[in-house]
Amino acid sequence: MGLPVAEVIAAARSVGVRRLVTVGDTMASSRWCASTAATYADVFAAVAVHPNEVNDFTAADADELASLATLPHVRAIGETGLDYYWDTVEPAIQQAAFRTHIEIAKSAGKALVIHDRNAHDDVLRILEEVGPPERTVFHCFSGDVSMSKRCVERGYYMSFSGTVTFKNAAALREAANAVPLELVLVETDAPFLTPMPYRGQPNSPYLIPYTVRALADAMGVGEDEVAAATAANAERVFGSWAP
Ligand SMILES: [Zn+2]
Repeated sequence: MGLPVAEVIAAARSVGVRRLVTVGDTMASSRWCASTAATYADVFAAVAVHPNEVNDFTAADADELASLATLPHVRAIGETGLDYYWDTVEPAIQQAAFRTHIEIAKSAGKALVIHDRNAHDDVLRILEEVGPPERTVFHCFSGDVSMSKRCVERGYYMSFSGTVTFKNAAALREAANAVPLELVLVETDAPFLTPMPYRGQPNSPYLIPYTVRALADAMGVGEDEVAAATAANAERVFGSWAP
């Protein structure tokens, strides 16, 4: 485990980041996220079992996620989706679990946070087949410009991580350039995907300004505009942080 939650929040606040979403990827971490969000006013939770972890995903797990999803501080179902990079879970098993997660998000009226790795076509197809929730986010967006345009057409949000700062990420920056301000979000994926110049160290929310700056550059707008837009978009997607 990393730093205590209160320290992570304090470090984030010191650079003006006041609102965080902590995201589950197993049943245990989803329960942890829900209870952490209940404890800290600045934190919301997303709950789900990650596509690489769904070999043992049961109907009882789905019921428990559906019940966590009704909690007021649980604001999204995620990370769910498809990951064809690793081959630990059969695509058919991933797809069935993804469909279940989409249904849970829709029943609870919560946002959907998607993990899509090497699976753009199947993710988009299954969203169309099941019918997407009102608010759908591609976390750590990793597509090229044709993928970002397909997401824009469908009104899906694209969340950019530290990868947008990487030297070899020209295609990702080109993709970002095709996204309107109304559909962008930023995230850490902590402790992974640390932005430059801290790549190689553990990521944490206080480093998000580097990602905001690189994204602003890629979009050809000011960093203040990106900061304002991502704050407003996050509130639209995840709901109000106001007490
Ligand atoms: Zn992910």
